Amino acid sequence: MSTDRLFRVVADGPLAPVITETLADLVEWLPWEVAINGIATMDGPIDGVYTYGHPHLDGAMLDRLPGVKVISNYGVGVDHINVSDAIARGIPVGNTPGILNGATADMAFTLLMAGARRLMEGDRYARSPEFTVYDPGYMLGREVHGATLGIIGMGRIGEQIARRASGFDMTVLYHNRNRNESAEQTLGVRYSNRDDLLRQSDFVVLSVPLTAETEGMIGSEEFALMKSTATLINVARGSVIQTQALTAALQQKTIYAAALDVTDPEPLPRDHPLLALDNLTIAPHLGSATEQTRQRMAEISIENLRLGLLGEPLQHVVSA
Ligand code: NAP
Repeated sequence: MSTDRLFRVVADGPLAPVITETLADLVEWLPWEVAINGIATMDGPIDGVYTYGHPHLDGAMLDRLPGVKVISNYGVGVDHINVSDAIARGIPVGNTPGILNGATADMAFTLLMAGARRLMEGDRYARSPEFTVYDPGYMLGREVHGATLGIIGMGRIGEQIARRASGFDMTVLYHNRNRNESAEQTLGVRYSNRDDLLRQSDFVVLSVPLTAETEGMIGSEEFALMKSTATLINVARGSVIQTQALTAALQQKTIYAAALDVTDPEPLPRDHPLLALDNLTIAPHLGSATEQTRQRMAEISIENLRLGLLGEPLQHVVSA
């Protein structure tokens, strides 16, 4: 394929400089409004789409962008893209699996420990004028070592979370639709149906993709099954949990605490009642946000885009 002109790629930005700098000789970037409004007023075809910050992309939008040869996503989760629509139009969708497992599992464990040991609440107190004297009776948390951890979604990230749990002498239960026998053998994790996992776990971590099946999978019935001493950690996607039910469960102390990297909606409205609760620990979607991992995500998504624009197979392609 000739590259005597720059490929025209629609992206939601602002993009990290490493992306635009690396592709400066290959790509002319067009704003996301082009994907929303179509190219009626633009000259020439659109060659590709690059999704950076989870913008919604579906078949109707792709139909307004004739000529697209590739969609490259910065990240592994592609729930914001209608992958079936893309595949039906012969457009491969690239993502960046594998390289962010460690960083996301580190974040899951950071949240788990912060929630269990009330770290953020302690941080606020330690900085406040109220902290004038040490009291052995305040802010008692829950023990992490020796506790039972339930992982819903024992895939690439789930396995890394289980690996970290072994250093804390935790018993690890997991739930998937299919058994992960290699994880059972190498990590000593035990398969459980979902309800038993919720009943038995001191910590429940969600690391499933957001799909029609997992959307809203944790609601009031599930909170009622959990221990009143349990902490729920979400590093998947916000809408795997029903936000209203979570708010009620934390307000009524049906469960002990929640620690969230992701929320629905994201961000939460600034006056959302969840944000007023001390038994909530929250991060602004930082799962893979380390300098090293974000660099690798940029490299792979750039390579997927480049290969797709040149009509070659992508390094990592999402199946329907
Ligand atoms: P993965 O390797 O595909 O693992 C997903 C696991 O979820 C699989 O073991 C799968 O097993 C299980 N699963 C899927 N549907 C299920 C269902 N209905 N019920 C129970 N288990 C189900 O994916 P991954 O790379 O670990 O990533 C998981 C998700 O994490 C991504 O899709 C993304 O949304 C999220 N993520 C978040 C961040 C962040 O910044 N917070 C970073 C990276 C990824 P079965 O197929 O056997 O059910």
